[in-house]
Amino acid sequence: TQHSQDRFGPLTRRITRPVVIGGVQVGGGAPVVVQSMTNTDTADVASTVKQIGELWRAGSELVRVTVNTTEAAAAIPRIVDKLAMMGIHVPIIGDFHYNGHTLLAGEPACAQALAKYRINPGNVGFGKKKDTQFAQLIEFAIQYGKPVRIGANWGSLDQALAARLMDENAQRAMPWDAGRVMREALILSALESAQRAVELGLPAERIILSAKVSGVQELVAVYRDLSMRSDFALHLGLTEAGIGSKGVVASSAALGVLLQEGIGDTIRISLTPEPGASRTQEVIVAQELLQTMGLRAFTPMVTACPGCGRTTSEFFQELAKVVQEHVRGKMPEWKISHPGAENMTLAVMGCVVNGPGESRHANIGISLPGTGEAPSAPVFVDGQKSVTLRGDNIAREFIGLIDDYVDS
Ligand code: SF4
Repeated sequence: TQHSQDRFGPLTRRITRPVVIGGVQVGGGAPVVVQSMTNTDTADVASTVKQIGELWRAGSELVRVTVNTTEAAAAIPRIVDKLAMMGIHVPIIGDFHYNGHTLLAGEPACAQALAKYRINPGNVGFGKKKDTQFAQLIEFAIQYGKPVRIGANWGSLDQALAARLMDENAQRAMPWDAGRVMREALILSALESAQRAVELGLPAERIILSAKVSGVQELVAVYRDLSMRSDFALHLGLTEAGIGSKGVVASSAALGVLLQEGIGDTIRISLTPEPGASRTQEVIVAQELLQTMGLRAFTPMVTACPGCGRTTSEFFQELAKVVQEHVRGKMPEWKISHPGAENMTLAVMGCVVNGPGESRHANIGISLPGTGEAPSAPVFVDGQKSVTLRGDNIAREFIGLIDDYVDS
């Protein structure tokens, strides 16, 4: 693996096997795909459709829903039909634990309507039962032509496998520490299950792997190892990342390191939403992570200074927020009418110190007046001073200039 350009930028992407999920390619060099998951009761068709629509509009390219009961399984084809009628074409992934084999057997329309099945190798049963139930799930994937994600998780590790590795470890001359044994169990759970799926007849191009933990360093170690030991497409996510800024920071730290090393084909940011906050936040964080790393572009990004004692008011911070929300809201329309608008850069700055310089680096930027400066706000377009805004309508006029720039 090498740096793509003189130690600048991410390492060359690790090439994995491509997997197509309802028309969306994951792996095989495709751009890193953003996915998310609903938190509604899947049996509640109206609420689930509404939330899938919100996630899709925010930019989620795949959406996973839990399928935990016969009611939830029966709701899946109705959800998929409703979404299609509303013009929402996003592949829906079924998240199965414990009883997936029974639900797919009992609801063939669910098995057909889902674009992918997520199987947790840690909870499909134990011993012989596990072999049979896992095999049944894979046979459904083969029968219905669906890809699967074999998603191992630290919180639901295959206990038989963990016990086996602990026994093996006890025989070592230099035993590993407990953390390393558990990481190995997680990796082997994914790899051995994938191997079994291939032996059962599922093509390797229909398998995605994940091995999620909730610690940043553990996640980096697990995925580095996983990516060296197989060429299956990889789904990245820090599980149980947490609430608020902790979840955002921990996920970004872990996934940022891995993406920089060229590891990862699809990502989910697993945030616990703040009470009352929208589920779409996890999609926005995933997009911003990929975009700030220069891996993909989804929406124009606003550069803004933090403000300091030179700022006369919080107006520029409000303006930065209004501008970011405006361009994000416009993207679904601009994506069709003005492809490439997502690459545009904007700047909203608080005073003359860095304002004109940063604004000149952006496609369109504004430098608001700081303490002691004349009450005027020069606007820079493609590096050149364009107009100067004054008065009470600066926000509206600047947004008008952004729209004109996109239209031009
Ligand atoms: Fe402060 Fe001006 Fe720098 Fe903004 S650009 S942080 S207002 S000195």
